[in-house]
Amino acid sequence: LQEYDRRYVWHPFTQMKEWEEDEPIVIERGEGSFLIDTDGTRYLDGVAAIWTNVHGHCKKEINEAIKAQVDRLEHSTLLGLAGEQPALLAKRLVDIAPPGLCKVFYSDNGSTAVEIAVKMAFQYQQHKGHTGKTKFISFTNAYHGDTVGAMSVGGIDIYHDVYSPLLFPTIKAPAPYCYRCPMETSDSSSCGKVCLKELERLMADHAHELAALVIEPRVQGAGGMITQPEGFVRTVRELCNKYDVLMIADEVAVGFGRTGAMFACEKEGVTPDLMALSKGITAGYLPLAATLTTQQVYNAFLGEYRELKTFFHGHTFTGNPIACAAALASLDLIEKEQLLANLQPKIEYLKDRLNSLKSLVHVGDVRQEGLIGGIELVRNRATKESYHWEERIGVLVCRAARKHGIFLRPLGNIIVVFPPLSISLAELKQLMDGIEASIREVTE
Ligand code: PMP
Repeated sequence: LQEYDRRYVWHPFTQMKEWEEDEPIVIERGEGSFLIDTDGTRYLDGVAAIWTNVHGHCKKEINEAIKAQVDRLEHSTLLGLAGEQPALLAKRLVDIAPPGLCKVFYSDNGSTAVEIAVKMAFQYQQHKGHTGKTKFISFTNAYHGDTVGAMSVGGIDIYHDVYSPLLFPTIKAPAPYCYRCPMETSDSSSCGKVCLKELERLMADHAHELAALVIEPRVQGAGGMITQPEGFVRTVRELCNKYDVLMIADEVAVGFGRTGAMFACEKEGVTPDLMALSKGITAGYLPLAATLTTQQVYNAFLGEYRELKTFFHGHTFTGNPIACAAALASLDLIEKEQLLANLQPKIEYLKDRLNSLKSLVHVGDVRQEGLIGGIELVRNRATKESYHWEERIGVLVCRAARKHGIFLRPLGNIIVVFPPLSISLAELKQLMDGIEASIREVTE
């Protein structure tokens, strides 16, 4: 298997040469918070199968729901037909979404959920007669996916620079990053405010040409688990209202409980005009995504036949019944097992452990939102000098963690933690003990 993997599988981002000298670990099965390789070695899954895992691996109830659905129908189409599972799930998503979101458009992954929101927002403005409103405003450090539209609204240059001739131009607003303020203010109490001031300036200048704003609410994930100050998302919503710009919330990573609320926007009482969901929607079982929107946006697409108000977008596997069955089973479990209430002690514990890491000499900053943690390693705490990327400090820490039976991924010099939401307190302790030991081994 290792030989086949080396020879035939093109892994994502491999040319960054992160792991080249490591033997691939071939994962054979999963059990709760653990991934188990072909030798039987168990790894605590510190990244919840890339944000997706909610109830642990191989959860009996979801396995059974999928098996039952496979015996009934594997797939048909939403082009011209309706389906039992996609209809039930759409109703369920609307019931739990921020109030006002009432239409569900299905796709297959986070990038397409965002791409769809971008296309809908663009076309909405056209249908409303705002033909000049064709541009998007998004944030530095943002990650919204790898399709061309999602990349265009992204803000991590290393991922997008090579494709820049393909991307449409967007207006970039500074995202708050209190540890390394993009506006270079040294006053940490004003964190967020300076960025909002600049955002308002940009929105006022460009209001006539702005279709929508795109934001990862509360925390920018792939950008480094960069948390936003309280009230940031609410003020962004107010600015969108003021300048008549649609608000697109990318909850692909933070949706379905990860922040401690069902959706991150809820924490600030915000309803976006469009909301992109994926990852946790099927609890990590199957690819599925949904873009939710309001009646107001939907109505702009109603018209007489041949008026060309159609939303020209539709994927083959849209609303796949097996994926929808998994999502419904996951939502049942979230309720039955009181997942959100049970998260609170784990969130508190993570907070304590992250705070105690601040005493390590090479930990510059720690950040947290719900069951998401970010630990920024620096060469020099006083000057905030980063390690050089060639030192691959994050890779070394994650490699050390494997010896402690933990699977982690680095984001450059930032160690990120987001285990399955079902992790037990004892397992979370094991995870944080292993992370602390690995950071010490590599940096001290
Ligand atoms: N948006 C956010 C906030 C994400 O974190 C990701 C994936 N990391 C995406 C969009 C893209 O999702 P996918 O990889 O499923 O296309």
